[in-house]
Amino acid sequence: MMYHSTRSADSKITSAEAIVKGIAPDGGLYIPENIPQISLDDILRLSTMNYRSRACGVLGLFLTDYTSEEIENCVENAYSKENFETEAIAPLYELTENEYVLELWHGPTCAFKDMALQILPHLLTCAVKKTGEDKTVVILVATSGDTGKAALEGFKDVDGTKIMVFFPEDGVSRVQKLQMSTQAGANVMVSGVFGNFDDAQTGVKKIFGDSDFDSQAKAGGYSLSSANSINWGRLVPQIVYYVSAYCDMVKSGAIKLGDKINVCVPTGNFGNILAAWYAKAMGLPVAKLICASNKNNVLTDFIKTGIYDKNRNFYTTMSPSMDILISSNLERLLCLMSDEKEAEGYMKSLAETGKYEVSDAIKNKIKEDFYGACCDDDQTQATIRDIWQKYEYLADTHTAVACGVYNQYVNETGDTTKTVIASTANPFKFSGSVLSAIYDGDLSAMDEFEIIDMLSEMTGQKVPQSLAELKEKEIRFSGKCEKSYMPQAVKSFLGI
Ligand SMILES: *Cc1c(COP(=O)(O)O)cnc(C)c1O
Repeated sequence: MMYHSTRSADSKITSAEAIVKGIAPDGGLYIPENIPQISLDDILRLSTMNYRSRACGVLGLFLTDYTSEEIENCVENAYSKENFETEAIAPLYELTENEYVLELWHGPTCAFKDMALQILPHLLTCAVKKTGEDKTVVILVATSGDTGKAALEGFKDVDGTKIMVFFPEDGVSRVQKLQMSTQAGANVMVSGVFGNFDDAQTGVKKIFGDSDFDSQAKAGGYSLSSANSINWGRLVPQIVYYVSAYCDMVKSGAIKLGDKINVCVPTGNFGNILAAWYAKAMGLPVAKLICASNKNNVLTDFIKTGIYDKNRNFYTTMSPSMDILISSNLERLLCLMSDEKEAEGYMKSLAETGKYEVSDAIKNKIKEDFYGACCDDDQTQATIRDIWQKYEYLADTHTAVACGVYNQYVNETGDTTKTVIASTANPFKFSGSVLSAIYDGDLSAMDEFEIIDMLSEMTGQKVPQSLAELKEKEIRFSGKCEKSYMPQAVKSFLGI
């Protein structure tokens, strides 16, 4: 199966090439030219397997130019006992009769980004060999917090790669910043950027689109690639866990094979929920995709009105990984719901005016597949408290946004379809906001680590080791720059 850009179907490449390139030369994102199908029989067969075998099955349908041995190798390396603290990899927790929490944060950095970023380096280095690329692959990442750390952990000391991560200087939590600034590895670099996530992301996209920069890098023996969710190699591993969650529900008897489920996803860049959309398009029995946003609710408005308008206030919230006004992966959905020419038009309008309105045809398709709503910080904390008090289950702020939106959905529609709620971070990663949701005392005099310990004491939940260790680690990276300086920062890291 071949891949092409969302902005033109003229030139077709293999999945390995798409993963090496990251983003298309015309600025579009790569998509497979068709969507492979799975039958109920396939799903039944996958239900009897473990996560790794399910992953091999699903990835093999999309990455047709990889041999099954290559895929197996990538999967074994990524979803190993060393990297994931549970054999289930992405366990499903039954919160209520209708709500199933899909825990995607049992990897090394305690956030769902690990699900894709533990495997991407293996898919990429394998792809590099297959495509005959002889240059060192340089991964450039803009992060709203979690991607950066997960990418650094995935790529650290991987032969033939270097990685540089930019994060918004004042837009990530203290733990997130510490996780990145203490990163180990000889091939890594980390820098803050003055501005918000969109500034950092736009800066990275500019570097990718700059042909002078590209030739300079090539002359220096480097080839640029991306580990942001614009890379197909990030998206495709995320399809796996939705299929896997459905299999688990069939296996446990929560549903019968063929029953429809809903999926609710706390959304930022639209990568995770797009993976769920792909799972549905492949034939997984999914009814509604519930798109949950925080106060940065550009997607809620878009789903309701068909108008995407990023000309609005940007809010820094307690779910920082969703503080985004430009959801890059939406471009893939628009292309899939219309065509390359129409998608290109919308993106052009977005670049020029910060706004576009989709056709009635797309509006209708979106209404059919999606429901969108949002939660502000107060509602998020009230949801954390409520879930803790009722079920003794501790949700992080991002997961709580999804749970809060799910409640709105049920109140509005009365729908009792069993729903998988994507849980995207370990609650200890956002300890301050989580603790203050369930504890009325004053936290202002406590530092981040005291808060982590107190949250653990109060709830009896164990602090993940990678977070507990942070305190003792040495800071390796403390640089920060203006966004106009980002290309220069990359050049000095590479010595070109
Ligand atoms: C990245 C992230 C999200 C948003 O996922 P998208 O794929 O960008 O929509 C939600 N929660 C957490 C904890 C994240 O790290």
